[in-house]
Amino acid sequence: NLCNGHEAALERVQGITNCELQFMNADILDSNTLDKVFNNFKPEAVIHFAGLKAVSESVADPLKYYEVNVGGSISLLKTMSKAKCNNIVFSSSATVYGDPQYLPYDEEHSTNPVNPYGRTKLMIENIINDWITTDSKRRGTILRYFNPVGAHESGQIGEEPIGTPNNLMPYIAQVADGRREYLNIFGNDYDTADGTGARDYIHVVDLALAHIGALNQNKLNKFEILNVGAGKSTTVLELLKKFEETSGVTINFKYLPRRDGDLAAFWADSSKAFEKIDWQPERNIKKICEDTWCWHKLNPTGYGPK
Ligand code: UDP
Repeated sequence: NLCNGHEAALERVQGITNCELQFMNADILDSNTLDKVFNNFKPEAVIHFAGLKAVSESVADPLKYYEVNVGGSISLLKTMSKAKCNNIVFSSSATVYGDPQYLPYDEEHSTNPVNPYGRTKLMIENIINDWITTDSKRRGTILRYFNPVGAHESGQIGEEPIGTPNNLMPYIAQVADGRREYLNIFGNDYDTADGTGARDYIHVVDLALAHIGALNQNKLNKFEILNVGAGKSTTVLELLKKFEETSGVTINFKYLPRRDGDLAAFWADSSKAFEKIDWQPERNIKKICEDTWCWHKLNPTGYGPK
């Protein structure tokens, strides 16, 4: 429904792919419209990305998150049932794991999300598992994303959050391009190489390709959970330095106390995805910074006014 997106991005996707894209601006909670979309398009499969994703907002307004994420997924699955559309790929999150019992996280790691956002993701995973069990033809693939960053290498499509960015990479980029004065680094006393938080950053194009792999299901079980990360951890300072090298711009920063609910460090064991969907991330942190910077330079105000 474009609540955190821009229709211009879809036009640009058509330019990059040279494919006509059919778009319907609708809310996932609007079952009547969903039914109509499914009657018109008759999809074979759904890749379900329609969810809210800001952890702090989910703490401040949990009911909105349960309504949109969990309620929206139920609404979608009901429509899929009616339309006999039997295959769903769901964008979940590494947040479902919670405090690491060991690292890297593999899919067997216990789940214990520490905020409402993460709890909605875990609930939806379980709902999908229950949904596929009721019909032998149904399949569900859960992709647990680590930290998606970067942009398409054409510089045509990238991340343009509405309002102040919550996430690190768009914030760094907005400091580099002069829109913000300095980066706030949340915590420099973690047990990591330089005291700042460490994450597993994965290029959005690598992440997108994992979805294609997940639709080519031949090695996948009826219900499958796959980590989708690069398998390496990078600290806030390491990412900032790499961005400075790439852009040639000094990025000022200040240390603030730790952000509520943040973990010190986590990264993925994605070996199951490597095997099951014949996929490997191919774009490293340098490429991530280059593509992000290219997108920002070509689009200093993002996609422009809505
Ligand atoms: N972070 C930061 N300043 C920011 C945003 C994030 O220092 O303005 C840190 C955050 O504490 C974490 C890392 O950057 O260690 C990644 O945070 P992000 O919000 O991008 O992703 P998360 O892992 O929280 O989903």
